[in-house]
Amino acid sequence: MPEVIDSLKNAQRQVDMIAKYLKVDEGILEKIKVSRREITVNFPTKMDDGTVKIFTGYRVQHNDTRGPFKGGIRYHPDVDMNETKALAMWMTWKTAVVNIPFGGAKGGVQCNPKEMSEGELERLTRRFTWEISPFIGPDVDIPAPDVYTTPKVMAWIMDTYSIIKGRAVTGVVTGKPLELGGSLGRFEATGKGVVIVTAKACQEYGMALEGARVAIQGSGNVGGVAADYLNRRGAKVVAISDSKGGIFNSNGLPLEKAMDCKARHDRFMPEEIGDCEAITNQELLALDCDILVLAALGNVLTAENAGAVRAKMIVEGANGPTTTEADEILNDKGIIVLPDILANAGGVIVSYFEWVQNLQELLWSEEEISSRLENILERSFNEVVTISKDKKVPLRMAAYILGVGRVAKAHELRGIYP
Ligand code: GLU
Repeated sequence: MPEVIDSLKNAQRQVDMIAKYLKVDEGILEKIKVSRREITVNFPTKMDDGTVKIFTGYRVQHNDTRGPFKGGIRYHPDVDMNETKALAMWMTWKTAVVNIPFGGAKGGVQCNPKEMSEGELERLTRRFTWEISPFIGPDVDIPAPDVYTTPKVMAWIMDTYSIIKGRAVTGVVTGKPLELGGSLGRFEATGKGVVIVTAKACQEYGMALEGARVAIQGSGNVGGVAADYLNRRGAKVVAISDSKGGIFNSNGLPLEKAMDCKARHDRFMPEEIGDCEAITNQELLALDCDILVLAALGNVLTAENAGAVRAKMIVEGANGPTTTEADEILNDKGIIVLPDILANAGGVIVSYFEWVQNLQELLWSEEEISSRLENILERSFNEVVTISKDKKVPLRMAAYILGVGRVAKAHELRGIYP
């Protein structure tokens, strides 16, 4: 029977697994395992053919004890409340692990953006923004890009919110186009962060990144950017995929040609790219390689396929790609897993820089952003590794001890009102 995956239960179980390492009141632990506010909106959008369609959207605000709620908005047919709650919780731990002054949130609209025109997407975005506008704001909750949402979508959110307020409010959303208060380095931040953390881990665990054979699931602004940076650092990208499938060459792919094909046809076509063969996403996960980067969707490694993984290191560019059962199997096999809440935190870190620049009306240079990003990721990586060694736990548990611990401590200091 196929495994039924409950993302929220997975997320809560991850907290339970580290509870014994924290000196935290049980009530506070229960509090941080549930979200503070869960918003569902059903709203109409005019379609190009003149009909009106009703869409369902969500914004889950998990925790704002350490600062305003922060997290992306995704457009995908599989968006639902359960998964959004888990994704919001992971954002809380992520901002805490890298110690930026935010809480965690996530949102989404259940839709298929690939089958919608730009006009339909704009009308959907503007109406969704209006529906959640009482609950967001630069000092309340700051959305950002996520799966299938782009800088253009962020511009529509910023414009709609600004019209409601009667003035330009750039700090209400991050991941905006540069011309509208977006930050240099934000678009590539998640993929770049993935590579910074991977390089640190290779150093720590005695693996050479140069020459390492890397398979990458996903080729969007996480997988595609990571592929480019890995390639520049001398790693050998042997496979890459999108939602339709992937390509493989054990000696390394012609990456430039592959990405060019993907940009032009929105798919990888081995016959056009040359020097590679087609593979499925499942085959990619089980490839004989050194590093497997998961940069697509959640729940891709489960109890059913984790046993087949042959990589020495897994890097979670996506949120929640590994179920708790799969995690146990990977740990037993001695595979190093760089957890999502650390490995993909580059995006929200540069979102933080964007927000700071917006609030202070400053413009930082690319060098400044790049070195600040590197500093935060290095410091966080070192803190997680130290806990992992001290407590003899895998990196995910160490990251949870650090992140959940920081949130719990903040709760303790603030106390319970009244
Ligand atoms: N959606 C990204 C994430 O999952 C970025 C969130 C943000 O920048 O607020 O981390």
